[in-house]
Amino acid sequence: MIKDKIKSLASQYKSEIIANRRHLHANPELSFHEHETAAFVQNQLKSIGITELETKADTGIVALIKGKNPDKKIIALRGDMDALPIFEQNEVPYKSTKPGIMHACGHDVHTASLLGAAKILNDVKEEFEGTIKLIFQPGEELIPGGASLMIKDKALENPKPQAIIGQHVMPLIPVGKVGFRKGMYMASADELYITVKGKGGHGAMPETLVDPVLIAAHMIVALQQVVSRNASPKIPSVLSFGRIEALGATNIIPNEVKIQGTFRTLNEAWRAKAHQHMISIAKGIAEGMGAEVDFEVRKGYPFLKNAEELTGRAQNAAIEYLGKENVEDLDIWMAAEDFSYYTQEMDGCFYRLGTRNEAKGITSGVHTPTFDIDEDALEIGAGLMAYLAVKELEA
Ligand SMILES: [Zn+2]
Ligand SMILES: [Zn+2]
Repeated sequence: MIKDKIKSLASQYKSEIIANRRHLHANPELSFHEHETAAFVQNQLKSIGITELETKADTGIVALIKGKNPDKKIIALRGDMDALPIFEQNEVPYKSTKPGIMHACGHDVHTASLLGAAKILNDVKEEFEGTIKLIFQPGEELIPGGASLMIKDKALENPKPQAIIGQHVMPLIPVGKVGFRKGMYMASADELYITVKGKGGHGAMPETLVDPVLIAAHMIVALQQVVSRNASPKIPSVLSFGRIEALGATNIIPNEVKIQGTFRTLNEAWRAKAHQHMISIAKGIAEGMGAEVDFEVRKGYPFLKNAEELTGRAQNAAIEYLGKENVEDLDIWMAAEDFSYYTQEMDGCFYRLGTRNEAKGITSGVHTPTFDIDEDALEIGAGLMAYLAVKELEA
């Protein structure tokens, strides 16, 4: 059976997959600077015997593994490769050798797992029909997102996949388990930059001024109505302001106040409407109180929707592979992921790989200087991904 074959190959290649992950972890590169990483991936793919590969979006790579009847169906598997500007605090043999750069979001795990899946799939290519398209992408952590650049550079064309599958480490889920969610899964994330322009002066003479501090305070309160009144209760939305800058003093009212925040939701039409609501509320308040406002929305990634049927099939395949007790249902997650760009183009399934191990003290969250994984997750990360791809080719 193909499942048992894939499982035994994943177990056979486990130490090699761990070694690859450690190499990547020790040599992290920031978003859109993944040159050594891309060269490493290319060499690994060539050593596996995968020769149909192309560079995309400067540091991205697309490769093909053709089974029998290669045009029958095409499934894409995606891994991201970039690291974060964080000083690693783990004292481990594979600690980052680049001060201030760290694989703190597990993209080393995703890349090593996808390489492992590639090796497994290449071994069993006589046993499936169709083609596996491997997508190693740069720059997940930085707007505009490597996924959007890969799409622009035609990573999803020639040949065009029917579906795409991606995975991400999850330190809340114990190693040995994975998580899936059909439908709405992750949020769009837009950055808000508001500048309220009034007229500053002595705090004792408010009647001669236009106080941007008071106006900013009204704005922050009023903008919450976008979430509480304008948003449908069926679509999750978050509006948070994390920075206010009013550089006055006890007796000085400043000329302007700057506010920064984030708006997140799970529906593209509502997202665009919400931007307009926010701008018109801010403008109305500023105008009514005699000030002016600059309201800039810097658009981030779109929301991530997991295709219902594809994700249902993948979840069932994961249950076959790992057992029912090891496959969890996920909640909505209000963080953003550039995998969402692929899901705007085609059916996608983005699932979570458990990496937590309390007994070993591996509990830190992603984007922290002590993030690490239980490396037993890599055998599943590679094997399950290979199995999901083969099952989807058969579907
Ligand atoms: Zn991240
Ligand atoms: Zn990530």
